[in-house]
Amino acid sequence: MPVQTQHKPRRALSRQIGFDLPASLSELSLAALRHWHQQGLDAWRAGQTTSGRTDWLAIKLALTRHLLQQCNFCVHNCRVDRSRGQFGYCRLGSASPLAGSYLHHGEEPPIRPTWALFFSGCTMHCSYCHNWRETFHFDASEAFPMQTVIEDLQQANGQYKTLSLIGGTPEPHLHTILELARQLPAEITAPLVLNHNATLSAEGLDLMAGVVDIYLPDFKHGNNACAWQLTKIQGYTESVLANLRAAREQRAGVLVRHLVLPGHLDCCTRPTLEQLAEEFKDLALNVMFQYRPMYKAEQQAGLNRQLQAAERETVRQWVSELKLSLVTPI
Ligand code: SF4
Repeated sequence: MPVQTQHKPRRALSRQIGFDLPASLSELSLAALRHWHQQGLDAWRAGQTTSGRTDWLAIKLALTRHLLQQCNFCVHNCRVDRSRGQFGYCRLGSASPLAGSYLHHGEEPPIRPTWALFFSGCTMHCSYCHNWRETFHFDASEAFPMQTVIEDLQQANGQYKTLSLIGGTPEPHLHTILELARQLPAEITAPLVLNHNATLSAEGLDLMAGVVDIYLPDFKHGNNACAWQLTKIQGYTESVLANLRAAREQRAGVLVRHLVLPGHLDCCTRPTLEQLAEEFKDLALNVMFQYRPMYKAEQQAGLNRQLQAAERETVRQWVSELKLSLVTPI
């Protein structure tokens, strides 16, 4: 699936759907919101989104705020009431602490330059995290500075090709992302990129349908044992595959990233590349060699070093042998 950045952003297309709600949004129960969101999803999948009287984005936002009371945004499925300050795995309440908002030239060619919004908090706890200060050290009560972000985006409009939601991972912040999508002025047409862990739940993925233009998932580990040992998540490979399939089903752009880890070629890189070659050859791929031991990497045997030249060469041969095409040469 090519990474297309020239098309009209989906959030503009998804605003209106052709049916009336039986009551105002604030009066609808969780079950009713789910029903009407599904109606919108069916209509959107059928391409029936260009006329109508109901704001689908508003239904998404109302549903997401309800779900925050029993959070199931990601595969951890904590079911805590984040609106009342309960914390799940991600340690986030209803606020969305923002660690940075800036023009970023370092992403892949199809999406750069991008305006990056760095959300704190994460659905994984990687012992080798490269952004651990911004990701894990945050004030959970710090509100997302919506007005400042929008003013910055307006001021820099034209300087960035895409608008990237990064972290950590933006996945615990679906309510804030939808609020941002609703408040973005019409002149900000940059496609929305969700740079994420590929740990969205099925409902989280449905909520992003029609909003996210480009998914940028990490495919970090090729088996669940390494994923648990190094990132403290269970059912990892199933989650990534479900997220990739959903992104394809949404006909969004997809760019998959794989960070090669020292000593994890046979257990992680090889199975990841094989899976991509077998089922996702149409997706854009970036294989990354920039691993540096950071955060708690020294506590993991073998991770306290950079990649060796022989490891990089082995990966190059695998990419060639599996006929994978990369957005950036390695
Ligand atoms: S976003 Fe995920 S980790 Fe955080 S509370 Fe919700 S289900 Fe749990």
